[in-house]
Amino acid sequence: MAEPSDTTKKRKVPLKKIRNIGIIAHIDAGKTTTTERILFYTGRSYKIGDIDEGTTQMDWMEQEKERGITIMSAATTCFWTPTLPGAVSQEEHRINIIDTPGHVDFTAEVERSLRVLDGGITVLDAEEGVQSQSETVWNQADKYNVPRLCFANKMDKLGADFLATVKDIKERLGANPAIMTLPIGVESSFKGVVLLLDQKALIWKSDQTGSEYDVTDIPDDMKADVKKYRAKLIEQISEHDDQLLAKFLEGKEPTLTQLKKTLRKATLAYKLVPTFCGSSLRNKGVQPLLDAVVDYLPSPIDVPDIKGLNPKSEKEETRPNKIDAPFAGLAFKIQTDPHVGRLTYIRVYSGTLKSGSYTLNSTTKKKERVGRILLMHANTREEIDAAFAGEIVALVGLKNTTTGDTLCDESHPIILEGITFTDPVISLAIEPKTKADQEKMGYALNRLSEEDPTFTIKSDQETGQTIISGMGELHLEIIVDRMKREFKVEANTGQPQVAYKETIKKLAEAEGKYIRQSGGRGQYGHCFLRIEPRKRGQGYQFDSEVVGGRIPREFIPAIQKGVKEALENGVIAGFPLVDIQVVVYDGSYHDVDSSEIAFKIAGSIALQSAVKLANPVLLEPVMKLEVSTPEEFMGEIIGDLSSKRAKIQATTKRGRVTIINVQVPLAEMSKYATVLRSMTQGRASFYMEPSHYAEVPQNIADKIIAKNKPSAAAAEGEKNKNKR
Ligand code: GDP
Repeated sequence: MAEPSDTTKKRKVPLKKIRNIGIIAHIDAGKTTTTERILFYTGRSYKIGDIDEGTTQMDWMEQEKERGITIMSAATTCFWTPTLPGAVSQEEHRINIIDTPGHVDFTAEVERSLRVLDGGITVLDAEEGVQSQSETVWNQADKYNVPRLCFANKMDKLGADFLATVKDIKERLGANPAIMTLPIGVESSFKGVVLLLDQKALIWKSDQTGSEYDVTDIPDDMKADVKKYRAKLIEQISEHDDQLLAKFLEGKEPTLTQLKKTLRKATLAYKLVPTFCGSSLRNKGVQPLLDAVVDYLPSPIDVPDIKGLNPKSEKEETRPNKIDAPFAGLAFKIQTDPHVGRLTYIRVYSGTLKSGSYTLNSTTKKKERVGRILLMHANTREEIDAAFAGEIVALVGLKNTTTGDTLCDESHPIILEGITFTDPVISLAIEPKTKADQEKMGYALNRLSEEDPTFTIKSDQETGQTIISGMGELHLEIIVDRMKREFKVEANTGQPQVAYKETIKKLAEAEGKYIRQSGGRGQYGHCFLRIEPRKRGQGYQFDSEVVGGRIPREFIPAIQKGVKEALENGVIAGFPLVDIQVVVYDGSYHDVDSSEIAFKIAGSIALQSAVKLANPVLLEPVMKLEVSTPEEFMGEIIGDLSSKRAKIQATTKRGRVTIINVQVPLAEMSKYATVLRSMTQGRASFYMEPSHYAEVPQNIADKIIAKNKPSAAAAEGEKNKNKR
């Protein structure tokens, strides 16, 4: 371990020299390769205590890769000193790279990372342009106001086209890209980039990792292009500053410092997206990107102070980005580290957190002891004794904290906005291959779901089976595979089941009565409920309009509990009821016989009766699907999709492939990877993610109901039996 930082009162790295960034990309665009190269180049410029001198960083990565271990921790800290001609700052900066999962089924996990990072690099495949997942993630980053850079990767690939990619960024992402570099050569002749603002060419000596570059003048055959694109860039930047604009209009060129400062301002305001090109695989173009992270992406100072709710006063409060303010931080990832065990990654928004101290988890209201605080580097971890506002660190020793929880100063409690995740859309029954593994499987599944909040476990009340749910078939396959590899538990799984839901289509009112008054102390619960549909995705809401103490106030929560339980098993086929507004508006009570349990049962009965009157319907998850295929297979793919109830949204030609965008019910997409492979000899690929829930057409709903009704009816019978 390196020496602990000298004091817990003072920052080692000033805030303005910190960048908390994420690399966001469509799967296969080159996120992993780009991250590796960044860690390589930054690792070279920084030495910490105990790096084994014998092993270079790259060797270490190759080894990890061979063993199939993820190389990235949830947040990796590295250091970069800008080196290129014209760098704004030539001081060392700390860059924390927050891992954003690039996997097809994990778009929801990306939200978690976006919540805590300040800036992003979007990596695109320069041949494919903007792909479907890039679009989704781009919109998510917009939602969280994350300033971005773009990197058109794979300039060495056949068909790579930087300007077409830039056009795509403009048209498909609706962004305003500012071209910062032009490629020198393309495909197999790609050898470097021209830095437009600095008017210098960087030409790498080889494809090897760590290859040096020469800084040269602009090649003659590019001079005209450089002039044209540079003028355009200067105009684009100048538009964001009145003084520069005036200068520009007078035909005078602003200084480089002025231009870079204004570009930073425009990037932070989401007005411009500095766009670069290169090839991570061939080790070209990564250093200018790193300089740009320092020059144009926000430091924690540039981000507004965090807001949250004071749990006592229920009023909004702000926590300033200062080290002497009360501590507040957000846990954004739980990860098991092979060496130190359970790590809780947090972003500190305010104040100072010291190792060995106690902190309050204001979400669970439990106190936690912070054993150690770690900075995770690419190949080592560094113990530090304090974490300051703006920093991202990993904590060892927390027991009851999960993703999305707030940690804070006990005497200044605050709850920061949590992280919301889409509900799982698909489930599987799972059992261990040997009975002896039952307990081990439970442990493994719990561990995996701690790490991944989009994955849930529950046991089926009727059958006693363990049911796991996630965002897609592949997501669950990976979980089962990880269980085998990491926890040595082999399991059998059932057929994947689509997670249907139920909802209502009109307003209805009903009464619920639970009265037993024969001898001894009786039971008396009685209420009237009104239910109304809410918009799709808005969930459930409960209110009370009871006046004049017709139901004593202490029994209202009991009714709410009964309603909530009844919502878990809908009336059509036993699926959870969603998007419903429930209002209790009247009822009655008995001085002696009324009890919480009686009102709970009354609430549950009233809800079930009301739902039956409210035109209940079945909902199914609809997926957003993008198929990328050589044109010759387009007809067959579309024909097949049409038979799967798909709604075709668009077909676009991009380079040599045709892109088909559709919305299709998940229920129709079982084993689509195999279907598509055999239809196209493996030449098409697809990307799918949950989009929304929609009503199931009646003829199909009837079949699902018929299949699920017996158990729903049995459950109903069971409940009635209990009531008797
Ligand atoms: P990720 O899924 O976004 O993490 O992408 P990876 O970094 O794993 O890369 C996906 C594939 O693209 C791998 O086979 C890489 O070797 C390849 N790749 C990455 N960068 C480049 C590049 O600059 N040029 C070419 N030709 N291939 C690349």
